Amino acid sequence: MFGWNGKLLHVNLGKGKAVADKYDAEMAKNFLGGRGFAAKILWDELKPGTDPLSPDNKLVFAGGPLTGFALPSSGKLVVASKSPLTWGYGDGNIGTFAAVQMRKAGYDAVIVEGKAEGPVILLLRDESAEFFDAKDFWGLNSFETEKKLGDLYGHTVGVLCIGQGGENLVKFANIVSQEGRAGGRPGMGAVMGSKNLKAVVFIGSNELPVAYPKEMKDLGMEAYREVLVKPNYAFWKREGTMSTIEWSQENSVLPTFNYSEGVFSKADGIGGFAMEKIKVSNRGCPQCNMTCGNVVKDSDRKESELDYENVAMLGSNIGVGKLKQVAALNRVADEYGLDTISLGSVLGFAMEASEKGLIKEKVPWGGFKGSKALIKDIAFRQGYLGNLLADGVYSASEELGKGSNRWAMHVKGLEISAYDCHTTPAMALAYGTCSIGAHHKDAWVIAWEVKAGRKGYTAEKVDKVIELQRIRGGVFECLTVCRLPWIEVGLELEWYPKFLHAATSIELPWQTLNVIGDRVFNLIRAFWIREYGKKWSPEMDVPPPRWFEEPLTEGSFKGAMLDRTKYDAMLQMYYQKRGWDERGIPRESTLTSLGLRNAAKELGGHVSLAG
Ligand code: SF4
Repeated sequence: MFGWNGKLLHVNLGKGKAVADKYDAEMAKNFLGGRGFAAKILWDELKPGTDPLSPDNKLVFAGGPLTGFALPSSGKLVVASKSPLTWGYGDGNIGTFAAVQMRKAGYDAVIVEGKAEGPVILLLRDESAEFFDAKDFWGLNSFETEKKLGDLYGHTVGVLCIGQGGENLVKFANIVSQEGRAGGRPGMGAVMGSKNLKAVVFIGSNELPVAYPKEMKDLGMEAYREVLVKPNYAFWKREGTMSTIEWSQENSVLPTFNYSEGVFSKADGIGGFAMEKIKVSNRGCPQCNMTCGNVVKDSDRKESELDYENVAMLGSNIGVGKLKQVAALNRVADEYGLDTISLGSVLGFAMEASEKGLIKEKVPWGGFKGSKALIKDIAFRQGYLGNLLADGVYSASEELGKGSNRWAMHVKGLEISAYDCHTTPAMALAYGTCSIGAHHKDAWVIAWEVKAGRKGYTAEKVDKVIELQRIRGGVFECLTVCRLPWIEVGLELEWYPKFLHAATSIELPWQTLNVIGDRVFNLIRAFWIREYGKKWSPEMDVPPPRWFEEPLTEGSFKGAMLDRTKYDAMLQMYYQKRGWDERGIPRESTLTSLGLRNAAKELGGHVSLAG
């Protein structure tokens, strides 16, 4: 095989063993890599009902056939597992040297299972796997961990590690690399912590298997040049995703005060232009010439890497209007290894609970010092509130009761990312049906919807959500390349089949790639249904009641909210177009037509499948 290494590595931490396995060309062609491999591996290998924080859960690191080549934004890998936050499929991507080094070490994916007796570091250097005592590392934050490992092995090796959040099994702890490049929102860091795995170090020295080296080199150079001459490139380099703060404010979709409003009176203080004034440099993922991480000096005079999501969630959503303070909250979250989106959501929830008198702790809106202290409590699971919030907003609302579930902002247990949807039904549907819970990665449809018109709950909107889920959540996540060159500066989609051909020699036009996207999407759906069985219901695809019950009280969309009856009708339309029944369960014929006959058979043993 070209493009793919054709090898997976199974690591058992309990046994201190690593075994390399070959996989066949069919798996490569049908699932591509990244999310596709992760979904297939977890479907095939994970016993339904496995406790996500038990040794039996598996943690997958997977690259794709383009990972590591000199192509725009191909330095990513997917981290995936059964999520302790949602008890469904969970994943995320990270731009990291670990992606490149893992592939150069000869593996397309590494699967970690079992639990080490004590804290351990896994060193994967080409064909060898070594397990080191990590007692001296346990308790360090993610930045300190990576620095210490860099001092030992060199600062260009690939490191994936957890901070104290992962060690303490915070259910939205993530995996961190390169000081702030983090992924695995649905608790992949907690899964790592539950296995006593503090870090994985990847060192690879092999050439990647490429079908047409010259074509690959030429294409890569041409595509990098193409990115550079795009009209939006210069502005992108200045602001990255940060200009979305101003855009969201202008369009009343900036999550504010726990998603009760879409505008924030202090938005100017946390927007892209405010960021430019305190910016010191750009950071980015390997192989990328768009480097969208904006490094600023925070209120503690330390460096923090900002993007739209972390600023909106730790800014407007909790009422903090000073960017340096937002940056400090973001940095400590990265150090502890906590997902900033979920963190902003649980903080907003706590502030609202405090305001409503549901908890005795005083957590005022916009309180910087209080928020910082509470983040520490969450990371260490200290005190009643820290421990409560460490389980995520769904669990916290179940515990508190008193109607708090109506403003606990999550779907399927995963906290919603940074767009308020009072006025945007398509984006609400995208959150409702995303493969990991409420995340924007699969179908960031809101920019299109704001232009196309927000009011309708139309077939056109459903089609757009599905189209984006195929491209972004499907193909890009399986190729494990960043979507931003396409979505933000307009690098044309036609480049990707060409890259694939140069790497693998296989012709895979977009029509075929889209089928792969659907295959993976359906397999992930089957994973959720297999886990939830008879407890599965279409309610799991519905955003929280707040957006349907409490209209906006400020901004140009004052009085607006979603319509539940129309949302339900749109959801049923989505199911039909996806080939799912009225419960949202894939039909047997749908799975079979996607080459998932065995999955259909297995799923049929858990729930009845429509034909
Ligand atoms: S655009 Fe940003 S997120 Fe994407 S690869 Fe480049 S630096 Fe990473």
